Amino acid sequence: MNELKSLYEQYVVPTYGRFDVAFERGAGSQLWDFDGKRYVDMGCGIAVCSLGHAHPELSDALSAQARKLVHVSNLYYTEPQATLAKQLVDLTGVGKMFFCNSGAEANEGLYKLARRFGHESGRFEIITAHNSFHGRTMAGIAATGQEKVKIGFGPVMEGFTQVPFNDLEAVEKALSPATVAVMIEGVQGEGGITPATSEYLLGLRKFCDVNNLLLLMDAVQCGFFRTGNWQSYQTILSRDEVKSFQPDAISMAKSLGGGFPIGSFWITEKHADLLGPGSHGTTFGGTPLACAMASKIIEIVERDNLAGNAVAMGSLLKDELNVIAEAHPNVINTVRGLGLMIGVELQNDIPDFQNSETPASIQMVNKLHDACLILIPAGTNVVRFLPALNLTQADAEEALGIFRDTVAELAGKK
Ligand SMILES: *Cc1c(COP(=O)(O)O)cnc(C)c1O
Repeated sequence: MNELKSLYEQYVVPTYGRFDVAFERGAGSQLWDFDGKRYVDMGCGIAVCSLGHAHPELSDALSAQARKLVHVSNLYYTEPQATLAKQLVDLTGVGKMFFCNSGAEANEGLYKLARRFGHESGRFEIITAHNSFHGRTMAGIAATGQEKVKIGFGPVMEGFTQVPFNDLEAVEKALSPATVAVMIEGVQGEGGITPATSEYLLGLRKFCDVNNLLLLMDAVQCGFFRTGNWQSYQTILSRDEVKSFQPDAISMAKSLGGGFPIGSFWITEKHADLLGPGSHGTTFGGTPLACAMASKIIEIVERDNLAGNAVAMGSLLKDELNVIAEAHPNVINTVRGLGLMIGVELQNDIPDFQNSETPASIQMVNKLHDACLILIPAGTNVVRFLPALNLTQADAEEALGIFRDTVAELAGKK
């Protein structure tokens, strides 16, 4: 561990405050470090390893494709890209896909789509939400509604404005002659697991229609069956409401590749040809290896009804977390989320965490590492459960047991 740390110190740009853990291997929702210590993984990357670690069918799909064709570029047609595009359109709605390599890059495509859409009428401004997260590129940090990602990187790119989340009136007030789009996450992830309300989604759709704006959704974290449906709006809206709701474009990444880097965005049919030949591109995007992996994951999710598993395991986790929260209100403030995207908001005055400047979320995650549970922090006081879609009941219960004991220990010291 110390050897590894000193290599990082010497050779890796120190943008991350890494946790003191180095993993050697994984299987399903379990990880092992170099000392052979076993952890239950409720983070799966950061909502990335959608089928857990070292899934045998994914390893097979990856190596079979690697033996056939890894990469040829987007100058040519490839079968895996076409197959995946059709699968994603079948899931999302009539429209078309563009493939890239990450979430920030997928969002870049949405900004460019919006600017193309508004070009002739001189419109370019995109309204986004406070506490949102849209990635670390220059436009990504301009779109993101959190000051901390922008500090030291000014001037911030123009053309973005932020308003409070779930506040329709604030969006209406922000409308200017330059406005061309509204972009939100269906469930804010990095912001601390905050779902959009159904009124907000339906209101935004209507507002965008009336004012000829694009409604863009960043589904990089909350999409891909995580909330129990393909997209979060299908979970938030009722069966009837969802019939009259569709975004104009959706960005995807994280869980899409199950750990293999891939990003993508979907554009509804009406606007799908706005980005014509030469207008956008990428060397690696849609490479056969990534697409074969993503295709296989979708096939397995559908075959094994993992959306149903996300609902079942999500409610098991959330119900029990609520029981733990009720038993220890001096440690846990609230539990919120949808499906397998759950945030636990900690209290601000947990005695154990008062002796350090380190945010409570980070101290909690460290404490859970000692107890062999992996969670992901969000902001200063939220820890997230973002497990694999194929999470088993046994792994969920083991995670809950560790979490319960840790919270009880923290409560005991009050
Ligand atoms: C992680 C994330 C991104 C950025 O994705 P990268 O692959 O890190 O570029 C964008 N939007 C949301 C909602 C995310 O959670």
